Amino acid sequence: MTCEDSRIYLPAYLDDELGVAENLRMQNHLAGCTDCRQAQEEQLALRSALHDPGLYAHASPEFAKRIEAAILHAAKEEAGASQRSVWSGFSRMGSFRWVPVAAIAVIGVTLGFFLTMNGLRASHERLLANSVLTWHIRSLQPGHLVDVPSSDRHTVKPWFQGKLDFAPPVPDLSELGWNLIGGRLDYLDGRSVAAVVYQRRMHNINVFLWPNHATADGGITEEDAQGYQILHWNGADMTYWVVSDLNKAELEDFARALRGH
Ligand SMILES: [Zn+2]
Repeated sequence: MTCEDSRIYLPAYLDDELGVAENLRMQNHLAGCTDCRQAQEEQLALRSALHDPGLYAHASPEFAKRIEAAILHAAKEEAGASQRSVWSGFSRMGSFRWVPVAAIAVIGVTLGFFLTMNGLRASHERLLANSVLTWHIRSLQPGHLVDVPSSDRHTVKPWFQGKLDFAPPVPDLSELGWNLIGGRLDYLDGRSVAAVVYQRRMHNINVFLWPNHATADGGITEEDAQGYQILHWNGADMTYWVVSDLNKAELEDFARALRGH
């Protein structure tokens, strides 16, 4: 420990606030350093001087009462002033004096409701995005990618018939360079959904879709998760989740092709 350190630690040392290790280091330093020992003695002298009762002046009981009365008086004045301004404001509004209160309550409740709904929607979509990614990764295990392996939409689309309560659109995008690989059933958002698989340069793209009962989205939500891109939108008829390890720009192209179809 240097002298500089010792001076920094000294007040805490005298207040017995140091840890065991620092306390020991201080004791060792003070034992071998006359300068710091002198600083310690000066501090101790100052402290005992400050405890001298002669330094303190005690207020008389009359003085204490006057202060107390002045504080009470000021508090009453302030309370009266704020009450007057509230009531004169209400009476100026005549019979509508409670309208602002009701309006504020309604705005508060509505705002709270919308904030909660947005929050719920956000957390629900977050959960779905996680499930989508999980199902995508699982589908990449050998033998799990497709239940109906085919590049022909006239084979894939009818395969879903009788397995789902809706007919998923399976567009042929091969002319744009997106090859259909096949289809599969999965379970998302508490229901059976269609998973249609496309491929580009050995990158698999899972398209999860099921009927959309909400309003259609204007744009596409995008998320980058652990090297995978997740795109999502609510179409006029179907909810879409697209996931792949393909780069973002290409996957956006794919999503546009799918939406435009
Ligand atoms: Zn020292």
